[in-house]
Amino acid sequence: MIGVTSSMPTVTMIGGGQLARMTHQAAIALGQCLRVLASSRADPAAQVSADVVLGSHDELADLRRAAEGAVALTFDHEGVPLAHLQALEAEGVAVRPPSAALHFAQDKLAMRVRLAELGLPVPDFAELTDTREDARARFIEFGQTHGWAIVLKAIRGGYDGRGVWLLDNRDEAVTVFDEQFGAGVGLIAEQKVAMRRELSAMIGRSPYGQGAAWPVVETIQRKGQCAVVLAPAPDLSDDVAEQAQQMALRLADALGVVGVMAMELFETVDGELLVNELAMRPHNSGHWTMDGAVTSQFEQHLRAVLDYPLGDTAARAPVVVMANILGADTAPEMSMDERLHHLLARMPDAKVHLYGKGERPDRKVGHVNIVGGEADTPATVRERAERAAHWMSHAEWTDGWDAHA
Ligand code: ADP
Repeated sequence: MIGVTSSMPTVTMIGGGQLARMTHQAAIALGQCLRVLASSRADPAAQVSADVVLGSHDELADLRRAAEGAVALTFDHEGVPLAHLQALEAEGVAVRPPSAALHFAQDKLAMRVRLAELGLPVPDFAELTDTREDARARFIEFGQTHGWAIVLKAIRGGYDGRGVWLLDNRDEAVTVFDEQFGAGVGLIAEQKVAMRRELSAMIGRSPYGQGAAWPVVETIQRKGQCAVVLAPAPDLSDDVAEQAQQMALRLADALGVVGVMAMELFETVDGELLVNELAMRPHNSGHWTMDGAVTSQFEQHLRAVLDYPLGDTAARAPVVVMANILGADTAPEMSMDERLHHLLARMPDAKVHLYGKGERPDRKVGHVNIVGGEADTPATVRERAERAAHWMSHAEWTDGWDAHA
């Protein structure tokens, strides 16, 4: 490796995915080079950073190598074993967010219990971690109480809808429970929330204790993963938006979070907020900030882990929409390069972010941000963002447009 020398601090990010790639992009502007611990040179962030440590986030020795000389160690995913992070902390590494906070983003049961203790609204849930017989009995009782409108979740390791089973009848529910419990997966059951929509409240928090919240957004999920984000969430009352921001800021304080945090929320059909999930890292629901806010989530994450003053979180326009470029079932024959060429020709205002990943069905390979103008509504901006993203993944215009006609 070519040595990297700079008078600016080195931050290490564990994980070489798109979140690290985009954090590196923000690091460049701050005079830094993000060091990434990646599993391969081909990882999205390893392709672009000059400071790559190859290794595994499961190996303490690799984590130590990556942390050496860095001012802070942070993450682009939740997968690092907590015991390793505690060992690094004992050796004086500035792990941010600290293991004591990250624990609650890694463990859905601990998170639910802690949120309930702090008086934050969560869906009704049941812990299913006893002996098989007790857990099964508790699951069946919980299912009956909720008319089998329930969700089974793996306590650890789930993402993008993996490790989440939406259920609606007893037979199916018990089959899934038996399979997963039998495979040794730690589980919780949750009531299936009758929701109007899903929201996300993203904030940043520094070790000094400074906090800053972006406008609350609406997230639209497809096949269990985020597909579109509308910023701000359309028709959300100022009161509810502020309640969501305050909940996220208060929680981050209570848990000692450092960096950015996404609080995923359900808005129920009755207009109540329930907390679903926490992510203590840059998050898909914050990608719109790259083009649509004064400070992007990636820059804010770096500012926070370095204990710099936080940046302005105001939106740059009344409406901003992000649409993920998700791999098509069959990748189009037209190359990505040619698709990009056509998109840029047709939509000069589309801001495209590609992750350097190969296409596979439903895989997040990039996203498009559209910053709305004066005459726009959330619907018109959304239509354009989705049209652009669909073009990039399918080489088809959803409105039948033909460049050659
Ligand atoms: P992960 O983010 O780890 O993939 P989540 O807990 O966020 O898992 O669940 C993924 C998606 O499943 C959510 O965005 C939501 O659409 C749906 N979901 C999760 N929990 C519930 C619930 N209790 N009620 C209704 N839908 C749920």
